[in-house]
Amino acid sequence: MIRAIKGTRDIFGIETKKWRYVEQKIIEYARKYNYGEIRIPTFERTQLYLRGIGGETDIVNKEMYTFTDKGGRSITLRPEGTAGVVRAYIENKMYADKSLKKLFYMGSMYRQERPQKGRYREFRQFGIENIGSKEPLADAEVISFAYNLYKELGLKSIKVEINSIGCRTCRKNYIRALKDYLKPHYEMLCDNCKRRFDTNTLRILDCKNPGCKKITEKAPSTTEYLCDDCKEHFNEVLHYLDVRKIPYSVNNRLVRGLDYYTRTVFEVTTDRLGSQNAVAAGGRYDYLIGMFHSEDIPAVGFAGGMDRLILLMEEEGLFDAMDEEKPDIFIVAVSNDVRDYVIKIAESLREQGFSVETDLSMSSMKSQMRRAGKLNVDNVLIIGPDEIDKGVLTYKNMKKHSQKEIDIKELENFKKILE
Ligand code: ATP
Ligand code: MG
Repeated sequence: MIRAIKGTRDIFGIETKKWRYVEQKIIEYARKYNYGEIRIPTFERTQLYLRGIGGETDIVNKEMYTFTDKGGRSITLRPEGTAGVVRAYIENKMYADKSLKKLFYMGSMYRQERPQKGRYREFRQFGIENIGSKEPLADAEVISFAYNLYKELGLKSIKVEINSIGCRTCRKNYIRALKDYLKPHYEMLCDNCKRRFDTNTLRILDCKNPGCKKITEKAPSTTEYLCDDCKEHFNEVLHYLDVRKIPYSVNNRLVRGLDYYTRTVFEVTTDRLGSQNAVAAGGRYDYLIGMFHSEDIPAVGFAGGMDRLILLMEEEGLFDAMDEEKPDIFIVAVSNDVRDYVIKIAESLREQGFSVETDLSMSSMKSQMRRAGKLNVDNVLIIGPDEIDKGVLTYKNMKKHSQKEIDIKELENFKKILE
């Protein structure tokens, strides 16, 4: 037997119903906030991610699915959506009219990490990108989108954590202060963090190693080092969150794993999924576009993990009332000489918008009834040769345990029968 690749999974049955429900809500929400859908390729030149996400990040360092194609190009399966959206934004000159572009995407992402609950190698994310405004209003809208969507989905255990990591100028000062603080503890840091000390000091704050966590507990906080502009920007973001009545807590240790962030960073977290606690994460990335384009264009966005979102919704019992999809009507053929007739009736009912199931295996009436029972169908139509002659058929309402003979003509408006 050929098995699926480790870290990938099949989604079917009632699971797909949950996925569709969530996807539909996301689409609805994007519409409410006027984010237009963008569909980007699932693979890009490796260079895009190397430069965009940054060499000293977990994603680029250890998680990318990279291969050389037959043309000798280095290709990578997308590990996240923002870099691709930014590439598309520039390539399609979406900046040309200088107006704000609001985009959303949804799809599979690929990262080679250790599979566990809530962590897969192929997983799905949706995200929004708000490109063209440096204003705190935009940050607050993006954060509200995430929080309000999750609230509307019914989640109770979520929290918004927010921080500012400043701009080029103040981040430099902060990193210097952080290095000064860490230097005496250098030998106690994990090997990863020892390397990060020079290449990506900020990331040490995000390390999950308990030893490193302990060391950074008393580290200076990013907000103490913000320049006046960044401080004002951060305060205004918080102000607009207050106006929007979005509850949040400022977490001065929050830095995010991707290099492209500036100023605002945030996470939506839960305490219900063990260590896989981030359901959405994002922030401002004012310098990312400038890395691929002739000028910097400010932007802010977030990505939400859909697999984790659905796990969390299950955890909170939000799908308990959802049941397996089933047909509205099952048509039973009493004998094989009425099969043509059954086909016609089935198609007519489908035209009326009903989901209809029939037997396709030339089974006996008894086994058709059994299958209708297994499918838990509410409405069963039974058609036999004698009835066709009389222009009638039997209608069984399985919920009410009632049965009656109806005129075939009545099938032209089956809705009426159901009333
Ligand atoms: P983590 O710290 O959990 O590894 P991350 O910082 O790598 O998360 P992002 O790159 O910001 O995550 O992606 C945004 C969201 O995508 C995460 O909050 C999470 O919900 C989801 N996500 C990330 N990696 C995976 C994965 N391997 N499997 C399932 N969902 C994931
Ligand atoms: Mg990760």
